[in-house]
Amino acid sequence: MTERQNIVILGSTGSIGVSTLDVIARHRTDFHIVALTANRRADTLFEQCVHFGPEYAVLNDADGAARLAQRLSASGIKTQVLCGVDALEKVAALPQVSVVMAAIVGIAGLRATYAAVINGKRVLLANKEALVTAGAIFMTAVREHGAELIPIDSEHNAIFQALPMHFRSDPATAGVRRIVLTASGGPFRTLEPAQLAHVTPEQACAHPNWVMGRKISVDSATMMNKGLEIIEASRLFGVPESAIEVVVHPESIVHSLVEYVDGSSLAQLSNPDMRTPIAHALGYPRRIESGVAPLDLARIGRLNFAAPEAARFPCLSLARQALRIGGSAPTLLNAANEMAVAAFLAGDLRFDLIPTLIEHVLATVTAEPLHTLEDVFLVDQEARACARMWFERAPATHRIPVAVE
Ligand code: NAD
Ligand code: MG
Repeated sequence: MTERQNIVILGSTGSIGVSTLDVIARHRTDFHIVALTANRRADTLFEQCVHFGPEYAVLNDADGAARLAQRLSASGIKTQVLCGVDALEKVAALPQVSVVMAAIVGIAGLRATYAAVINGKRVLLANKEALVTAGAIFMTAVREHGAELIPIDSEHNAIFQALPMHFRSDPATAGVRRIVLTASGGPFRTLEPAQLAHVTPEQACAHPNWVMGRKISVDSATMMNKGLEIIEASRLFGVPESAIEVVVHPESIVHSLVEYVDGSSLAQLSNPDMRTPIAHALGYPRRIESGVAPLDLARIGRLNFAAPEAARFPCLSLARQALRIGGSAPTLLNAANEMAVAAFLAGDLRFDLIPTLIEHVLATVTAEPLHTLEDVFLVDQEARACARMWFERAPATHRIPVAVE
């Protein structure tokens, strides 16, 4: 018998949040849900409260929160409704909470994820932007406050599984030579480069293997997702940029590899379904059922691998450059990328100009050392102001052109 886990799910209405609840629903007696949180999707949050009866529900939107509270009380559900960023931090830090699933997208999740860290929680980390933007500050806080980080990102979860237990305490004897991140290559892996100017948000969000939120789907299409993951891997596992390789693997079955000095490579394989890494992290160190079908290699038949095309995916080298520069450069990269992706999704920026805007911000704002979390938010604001000025000067041709038949 293991103890029941008291868990908070930050971003419960998103793709990772919903998959987390799906796994928890298979193990109802092992988990008690203390809080569920969402940005604006009050209807989904209401349904989740009906099913899971959390102590707290947090909604970012104040009007929505008031309506949610009314609906819950009319249905006789005792969940207390809170509102805003402070409430996210509050629920992540509650003393009865042992596990926090950090599944908000973007730097918007940083404060609450950091609150979980400095309160010594076990943090299941999907919100890669929190780690990319706050970097060393985040990892220092993990050590100083005795928090535990278990990666949810499928590649990092695979590496976590393939590394020896003593890697963190004694990396010198572990014999790790390289980390190899696999990448699907996204929906535009084989598209004519000239066509990239014409792709629509719907095409960019139609990922061949994974169903994900819109922001990470666009990141996968530009391969900035893999760039952020190089930074994430470097932070999580303490390896330099030069020891992290990327290989394109269109089937998304091998989720990453650890290469050892004796020539061994250990990989983790599974069907592309986030419930596998989520179940691994929820149960750790036990293994629990995830609902994911077993891997049928005979049916899959063959797996393919190729080097990434640097010219087609400039975001990859921009992320490597930011990691090498260090300090606030990854924070600048992330802020510029969040601005560019939001503009692309709103129809205000051509897909092929996403890396152009990021490169502009990296070249214009000087990277500085980061000392506190507030430094991170200041740099984020500075990068966004720089991106806004770029948009103000951008010609109309920077918008998504009408598709040519
Ligand atoms: P999503 O867009 O589907 O969900 C995001 C969640 O965050 C939602 O619940 C939303 O309500 C909440 N949210 C958004 N903005 C917020 C704000 N300003 N304040 C409070 N809450 C806010 O995203 P997702 O695909 O579930 O991704 C979540 C995180 O997990 C991202 O960092 C992503 O990179 C990472 N991740 C996702 C996948 C995947 O398969 N979806 C895989 C690996 C890593
Ligand atoms: Mg990933």
